[in-house]
Amino acid sequence: MPLPLISEAPVADVTPDVTPDVAPDVAPGSKRLIDRLSADGRLPLADFETLLSSPSDADRAYARVRAADVAQRQFGNRVFVRGLIEFSSHCRKDCLYCGIRKSNREAERYRLSPEQILACCAEGYRLGYRTFVLQSGEDARYTTEVVTDIVRRIRAAYPDCAITLSIGQRSTAAYQQFFDAGADRFLLRHETADSEHYGRLHTAGQTLESRLACLSDLKEIGFQTGAGFMVGSPFQTVHHLAKDLVFLSEFRPHMVGIGPFLPHHRTPFGDQPAGSVDLTLFILSLVRLMLPTVLLPATTALGTARTGARDAGIQAGANVVMLNLSPPEQRPKYLLYDNKPVSGEVFEMTEAVRRSLSRIGYDIVVDRGDHPKEIR
Ligand code: SAH
Ligand code: SF4
Repeated sequence: MPLPLISEAPVADVTPDVTPDVAPDVAPGSKRLIDRLSADGRLPLADFETLLSSPSDADRAYARVRAADVAQRQFGNRVFVRGLIEFSSHCRKDCLYCGIRKSNREAERYRLSPEQILACCAEGYRLGYRTFVLQSGEDARYTTEVVTDIVRRIRAAYPDCAITLSIGQRSTAAYQQFFDAGADRFLLRHETADSEHYGRLHTAGQTLESRLACLSDLKEIGFQTGAGFMVGSPFQTVHHLAKDLVFLSEFRPHMVGIGPFLPHHRTPFGDQPAGSVDLTLFILSLVRLMLPTVLLPATTALGTARTGARDAGIQAGANVVMLNLSPPEQRPKYLLYDNKPVSGEVFEMTEAVRRSLSRIGYDIVVDRGDHPKEIR
């Protein structure tokens, strides 16, 4: 059964002009900073550090209600769904946090053919998905030509859909070719905006500088570009998180992916604690206030970390959910972290999310769900 069609245009870009009368016990200092972030779209590093140091329940509640208000003004009660197609679990990189890193010899590897990817799109389309997110490890087997061909075929078959790539770092020329073939968006989390911290999460040869160069290429080319990071990644401090938020305020991406770090038992960080759900929710609210029109998913990692956290993410200011269109038999092999959900038919999962969101007053909609200012 297709998703119900809701056709209103997104609400225009408006900055909230009223402060909701909520969280009366919010600390005056926190309230001032949250209000300033909302008004200016940025804060100095030291102010982000203050905000993030030890937010009280009241601080978080204040940010949440203000952020939900901004999201409501931008998008109404509409939540965009994305169909995620995890098309290869091969990766030549070795990010220390990730379950499909090259050095994890136990990880099972698979690749989807272009025909299998198109079959995933067909099922998603039938169920009302109008954005396909093609994600993979960094797999050299999918050359520039191969990816371009896949994008071209999806573009031809689904002219009314958005195509998002999340395939890691490539050359400027390759990115340009994907864009010319019809890809609309690209997700490439910066992971951490501190180069020393970046070094501790990755192996030699992976640098923040090269990651940021890719992000600026992508934006320059014209992609709706997504950055982002994990909350609670090993060695992360409040200073690093503050730098992440300053980076987002300067780079001003169209999309921001933020979820808690979750350990994977076959990685060097397998015994590290998971990131905080409450801190992730607070940061989602701050990002919504800072970038009112941003496409902000309540991520799978967030939903995995705590039951009900995906809905809480929407209530904290997120406006996107991603559901897995990958073939069910391959999903257990794309295990970035432990306990990632892998079971369930797409139809049932979609319905479950729809029901859950409708209980809190939101509708998932049949819509490409573009960034309001970047419709091509
Ligand atoms: N290979 C591509 C896309 C796949 S990984 C890339 O790296 O860009 C997509 C995202 O999953 C990464 O950006 C990372 O932030 C997240 N991720 C990986 N391992 C994780 C973990 N253990 N916990 C939470 N998120 C993780
Ligand atoms: Fe590969 Fe991406 Fe995992 Fe890094 S995060 S190991 S690039 S799949």
